[in-house]
Amino acid sequence: MAYPLSATKLQLYHRCPQAYYFRYELGLKAASFFGSTAMGTALHQTLAQFYQNWHYLEPLPQLKWIHQCWQQHSHHLNPSQMDEGKEILTNYYFRFIASQTVLRRPLAVEGKIQAQIRAANLEFSITGRYDRLDYMEDGIELIDYKSNRQLDSPKLEDIDLQIGLYYLGLEQRYHQSLRRLSLLYLRTGDKLVYDANPKQKRLARAAISELAVRLRTDEEWEPNPGEHCQQCAYKRYCPAVTSHPESPPIGVKRERQMQLTLSL
Ligand code: SF4
Repeated sequence: MAYPLSATKLQLYHRCPQAYYFRYELGLKAASFFGSTAMGTALHQTLAQFYQNWHYLEPLPQLKWIHQCWQQHSHHLNPSQMDEGKEILTNYYFRFIASQTVLRRPLAVEGKIQAQIRAANLEFSITGRYDRLDYMEDGIELIDYKSNRQLDSPKLEDIDLQIGLYYLGLEQRYHQSLRRLSLLYLRTGDKLVYDANPKQKRLARAAISELAVRLRTDEEWEPNPGEHCQQCAYKRYCPAVTSHPESPPIGVKRERQMQLTLSL
């Protein structure tokens, strides 16, 4: 059975192997800071329908098309959320649709990236998700909608790993290169654009190989203290930041070892 790997997992491993061990090897759940909200889900579904169900027989849809899509996905929200969402989508329309001469059909919306990668004799199954894939002249643009109230530009290191991993995945699925990753903040109208390059692909491959070796040898998952410790959910177990750390409960480690044995 292939070992499942996502950008979130690879980013955590790169940041701190010990935090990765607590989270994914012992299976200790960490509270999520940004759970998916009903409003965020409704906005994502609306935009998926907006692009997917438009007939593309006219150059541009009118504003009422995005409002019709919103109506279908917002009926469970309260009146003020419905108004807020409508305003967010109206702004989106004028910022990203009305300014174009023609609306181009995306390559895909709301999909999954799935690919297999082999490293150090281990099979990894890469999974990821995207909100939209657009064609560019020389490759693909991956678009991720963000419904946060504020712009929270991610760390460049995290972005590099995410792009590298998606690069590998999209290459297998579409036989085209990822050219850029764009984070589109729906509430503020900001769009952060990150160009993809072969260095990121190499970085992701190197991190996967390092992880593969560690999984095979089961050597120590050393802590990597830094600023990120402030938000770490595992501080009480961590000898690098706590003088008398608690012993973590044993979770799913034994099960994972069996999976690795089968895959070799
Ligand atoms: S507290 Fe810091 S060093 Fe310890 S596990 Fe968490 S991120 Fe790693």
